[in-house]
Amino acid sequence: MTHIAVIGAGITGVTTAYALAQRGYRVTVLDRQRYAAMETSFANGGQLSACNAEVWNKLSTVMQGLRWMMRRDAPLLMNPKPSWHKLSWMAAFVREIAHYRENTVETVRLALKAREALFAMAEAEGIDFDLKTRGILHFYRDRASFEKATGVNALLREGGLERYAVTPEEIRAIEPTLAGTYHGGFFTPSDATGDIHKFTRGLASACARRGVRFVQDASVETIAPGEGGYDIGWRAAGHPAGDTQVLQADAVVICAGCASRHFAAMLGDRVNVYPVKGYSITVNLLTPEAQKAAPEVSILDEAAKIVTSRLGDERLRVAGTAEFNGFNRDIRHDRIQPLVDWTREQFPLVDTDRVVAWSGLRPMLPNMLPKVGRGRRPGVFYNTGHGHLGWTLSGATAEIVAGAIAAEHAPERTILPLAA
Ligand SMILES: Cc1cc2nc3c(=O)[nH]c(=O)nc-3n(C[C@H](O)[C@H](O)[C@H](O)COP(=O)(O)OP(=O)(O)OC[C@H]3O[C@@H](n4cnc5c(N)ncnc54)[C@H](O)[C@@H]3O)c2cc1C
Repeated sequence: MTHIAVIGAGITGVTTAYALAQRGYRVTVLDRQRYAAMETSFANGGQLSACNAEVWNKLSTVMQGLRWMMRRDAPLLMNPKPSWHKLSWMAAFVREIAHYRENTVETVRLALKAREALFAMAEAEGIDFDLKTRGILHFYRDRASFEKATGVNALLREGGLERYAVTPEEIRAIEPTLAGTYHGGFFTPSDATGDIHKFTRGLASACARRGVRFVQDASVETIAPGEGGYDIGWRAAGHPAGDTQVLQADAVVICAGCASRHFAAMLGDRVNVYPVKGYSITVNLLTPEAQKAAPEVSILDEAAKIVTSRLGDERLRVAGTAEFNGFNRDIRHDRIQPLVDWTREQFPLVDTDRVVAWSGLRPMLPNMLPKVGRGRRPGVFYNTGHGHLGWTLSGATAEIVAGAIAAEHAPERTILPLAA
């Protein structure tokens, strides 16, 4: 039976493993963490948001970013220290401004497909992930930003999304707990939210039931052509001097989040993923009063770049900020505080005395579209670089990459040895 190795057990790796297992492959997933979904797929914003499909490649984003560089509490922060990785990524990001329109429309289409695929997986496998299908509400505080958003809405609608403008009164009717003053908003009834970690862990269990093997605590160090396909060299995580073990597979799929660039370079491909850091807080809603005061509908505040998701009765997730600071994962108090302050402003009766802070690195490509499909060498595939929308898009991209693999390797066939 054709054996496929998947590197990474985040949302992209686990959905890929599931799509491959369904097609009858023998699948092994390797991850350096002890459990699935412990890195970026741990505590994100929770939104399954076709409505957030607009790519960031716009001149106005670049100008806004430059203005924000001076403010420590700004939604976007850039460490000015130059690195080749950051500079080459920024240059490519600017070049992609020319493709803003088609990339936005393409992202919406992908997101709509993904939603159906993800819901189907959850239903087939009985996964509880605090899914809430109450829609996503964008709000704007002034006329200028609302009018700008009207243009974006036209693009989202072109991609097939049903999304409409709402008045301040309608905003309050959709989500009565909101306490601010708003000029207007846009509502997407079909968007949803859920806990990415719970989903990924649930799907990993389903994969295991279907025969997928998970090799956890396994830090992959090398991937090289070998007899019959690829040799994947790994060591027990945290034991850099330990013995190297080798796993042989007919083909390999790179789903390693921010580490994908490193593996791509090993395999002769350039996949310029940059780690764009973000933060979330999980507000524990421990009293009936706090639970009543927290929103059920998911919110996106475009100006503050903050999103919310209600996860069950007892948790409110609030996430945002984008930091260009390399692989640094430190949780900075001055970046968390704006999330807490925002929560207090919008939902004054929510208690913020039990808040859990988290940071994660979005694996982002300069054009903000994921890299999905084959690499240069036969038997090398990618499903990575989903940036700020990995949860939203993974259901579709797993199917696409599994289809690309099936086009090259029938499940029952073992491919011939490869030239280096
Ligand atoms: C603050 C924040 C909010 C977000 N909000 C949303 C949202 O609301 N909606 C949305 O759609 N998306 C959101 N995202 C984005 C989304 O969370 C990511 O796109 C997604 O989790 C990325 O998944 P992944 O599988 O590519 O990466 P990861 O989940 O990081 O998985 C990669 C895996 O590869 C493994 N790995 C790496 N290197 C090695 C190695 N050498 N050996 C073995 N294993 C290795 C890691 O251990 C990890 O488990 C948000 C992200 C952040 C940071």
